[in-house]
Amino acid sequence: MSIETPCDSGQPLACRVCQSELFAKIVSLPAMPLTDDFVSANEPGKAEFLHDIQIFECGQCGVVQNPFDFNYSAYYRDYQYSSGHSGFAQEFMRRYAGVAIDAFAAANGRQPERVLEIGSGDGAQLRCFIDAGTAQVKGVEPSEYLAGIANQAGIDTEVALFDKHILPLGLGQFDICTSSYTFDHVRNPGEYLSVANEMLVEGGILAIEVHDLEKIVKRAEFCLFEHEHTIYLTPDDIQRLAESAGFKVLAINPVPADCVRGNSLIVLAVKVRPALFVAARKPGGNPALLALNAHIQDLTRRIDQWVCDLPEGASVVGFGAGGRGVMTLAGLQHHGRFKALFDSNYKSNVYLTPKTRIPVVGPEDWKQFKESYCLVFSFGYLGEITQQLIAEGFAPSRIHSLLDFY
Ligand SMILES: [Zn+2]
Repeated sequence: MSIETPCDSGQPLACRVCQSELFAKIVSLPAMPLTDDFVSANEPGKAEFLHDIQIFECGQCGVVQNPFDFNYSAYYRDYQYSSGHSGFAQEFMRRYAGVAIDAFAAANGRQPERVLEIGSGDGAQLRCFIDAGTAQVKGVEPSEYLAGIANQAGIDTEVALFDKHILPLGLGQFDICTSSYTFDHVRNPGEYLSVANEMLVEGGILAIEVHDLEKIVKRAEFCLFEHEHTIYLTPDDIQRLAESAGFKVLAINPVPADCVRGNSLIVLAVKVRPALFVAARKPGGNPALLALNAHIQDLTRRIDQWVCDLPEGASVVGFGAGGRGVMTLAGLQHHGRFKALFDSNYKSNVYLTPKTRIPVVGPEDWKQFKESYCLVFSFGYLGEITQQLIAEGFAPSRIHSLLDFY
């Protein structure tokens, strides 16, 4: 795996959206890992991928971005992350499908018949469309492993990245094009929107979920600045981009806030004209962005301080081996104080976290740590997680949420 840096080839850094040269670096995080690049517990000597993360704001179109292309073909081929097993995630996906179906029906006076999902994983989201009566679904998923699970479960899934190469799958055929945390992984956002437009029928619905840059800035939520994430959008940004690609925005955050994950921005838009992507201008220089790097340093200092201030002899564990846990730990000076990172999707003694080398511990061993303090990184699932920890004997007063530090 590698990062393709334009600097290496002597090229100037260019904006992913409008191709202007990028000058304003707003965040710099040294030696950060990939969120899912766990080190095998049997091979702790093996070096993992570590690279600085640098985030820029475009002075012309205003889009905040990581301009470095991470060469991810090998990574996504093996990518096995799936959040489809939690009851909370299931309920979210049911509602997300519901708002897209309702928006299509309201705009077109009929129920949607064909749904396309980009980055469809193991097919859990498309299953919700089938359960709601959609006749035909199609998934596009770069991970061969996840696409295999989906296909075995009868969810028709193509192993591919979402770019113009998938147009032959059904030009002008789909009623809904949906995605969740995929649009902010693509190299060329204009191409994504144009392709989505071309795959949709007239009046088709584009549903996109990404992380909300406004929340990232407010919380100094640096864990979301990942090698795998290419763009960071505010509600205004995504509206501007969608309109540039022939869509009209119908709703922003149509799913109730208590049903969505930790940092979510959902936009529903309707196709009103053919694709012809031209990036709209919005000058950069947002003062909140200029102060972001200092806010991030303040956040990591406060978490480090909390860890150091725990009572003498107390041990601490983290909860959630997703991107939030892995990246937050990688930004802490005192990550060595964490004795374990809990996650229900993993077994014990198999993985260490990248960079910080903390053992990932599965549910069968949580009891052994019941006297510990626990910092819940995946706070979107805090209710569920707190119940699980209390059932294992953890004291409620020792369970803390990362959200409280934001
Ligand atoms: Zn730009």
